[in-house]
Amino acid sequence: MRDLSVVIPVFNEEEVLPALFSRLYPALDRLGLAYEVILVDDGSRDRSAALLRQQFELRPDVTRVVLFSRNYGQHLAIMAGFERCRGERIVTLDADLQNPPEELPKLLAKMDEGHDYVGGVRTQRRDPWFRRNASRLLNFLRERTTRIHMTDQGCMLRAYSRQIVNAINACSEVNTFIPALAYTFARNPAEVEVEHSARAMGATKYSFYRLLRLNFDLVAGFSLAPLQIFSVFGILVALGAMGLVTLQVVRRLVMGEAAEGMFDSLMEAIELLLTGLVLFGIGLLGEYIGRIYQQVLRRPRFLISAVLEQPEDKDPAAAGKPASAVARAGPPPGIQ
Ligand code: UDP
Ligand code: MG
Repeated sequence: MRDLSVVIPVFNEEEVLPALFSRLYPALDRLGLAYEVILVDDGSRDRSAALLRQQFELRPDVTRVVLFSRNYGQHLAIMAGFERCRGERIVTLDADLQNPPEELPKLLAKMDEGHDYVGGVRTQRRDPWFRRNASRLLNFLRERTTRIHMTDQGCMLRAYSRQIVNAINACSEVNTFIPALAYTFARNPAEVEVEHSARAMGATKYSFYRLLRLNFDLVAGFSLAPLQIFSVFGILVALGAMGLVTLQVVRRLVMGEAAEGMFDSLMEAIELLLTGLVLFGIGLLGEYIGRIYQQVLRRPRFLISAVLEQPEDKDPAAAGKPASAVARAGPPPGIQ
C-alpha cells in the first residue's frame, strides 16, 4: 500500500508530457509521502506511449504505466488506473497541466479534515468562452435533474479515499462519469478552490460531439428525469389536444361552415413543433437504450495492451512472467 496514487489519463499529449513530468514529480517528492503515479495511455497515436515508457524507465520505483490498445475515452482510462492503484488516497489529474500539480496538497489537506471525497472547483477557469458557458448550463441542469451536488463537475483535479475507489472498481459501467459516480458513494464530500491554467500545449481532445456524448453519459447515467419530464410533457400535450378538439367541435356546431380553415396554419405549426419534440424524445430513449444495450453485451470495457511496472509491483496473477513490462494482451506497445 502507498499513501498516495496519482492517476493521469493521457491521449495524444506528446507536447506537454515533458513539462508535466518536470513539474509533477518534484511536487510529489516535496510531499514526503510514499506515492505512485499511474499513467494511462488511452490509445494515443503520437509519441505519448514512448514518452511514458521513458518516464517509467527514469522513475520505475514510483511510476506505473498502463497502455490501452485503442482510444476508450478519459473516464475509462481513469477506471483502468483505479483498478491498478494501491494508494490509501487517490488523486486524478489531467495531463495537459490545466490542473497545476502544485495544487495537490490543498486536496490532501481537505481530506485530512475527514472528507472521503474532495472535488476541485476552478475559480478562474481558463477555457474558451463557449466551454465555460456550456459548462455553467450543464452544471445547472445536472443540479436540477440528479441528486448529485457539485459546483464544478468538469474539474478532474479530485481526491478520493480508498473506500470510494474500491466502490467505483466494483462498478462495471461502460459509459460513466467518474466525479458523479464517486459522489454517489461519498459519505462526506467537500470541495476546495483550485487554480486552473490554459492548456500548456496541444489542443483539447474534446470535440463538440464528444462533449455532447460525455454529458449524455452524465445525464443518462445518473438521472431518469429527462424521461420522466418527457412523459409529463406528453400528458400535457394530450390534454391540450383534447381541449383543442373540443373547442373545434363546439366552434363547428356554433359557427357552422365559417369555422373551417381558421385554425389550420396554427395547427400546422404546432404539429411541426410536436414532430420535432417526438423525434427528440425517441433520440433520448435511444440514449438510454443504447447504454442498456452496451451493458447487457458484457464485453470487456477496455483492452490493455501492456502494463509497465516493477517486477515486485506485479499482481499475483502476473507473477512469474519475465521483464518489467507485462504484456496482458495484444502486441507490445512499441509495435502499435
Ligand atoms: N483524455 C483521454 N482520452 C480521451 C480524451 C482525453 O485520456 O479520449 C485525457 C487528456 O489527455 C487529458 C484529459 O483527458 O489528460 C483531459 O482532456 P482535455 O484536456 O482534452 O479536456 P478539456 O480540458 O478540454 O476538457
Ligand atoms: Mg484540458
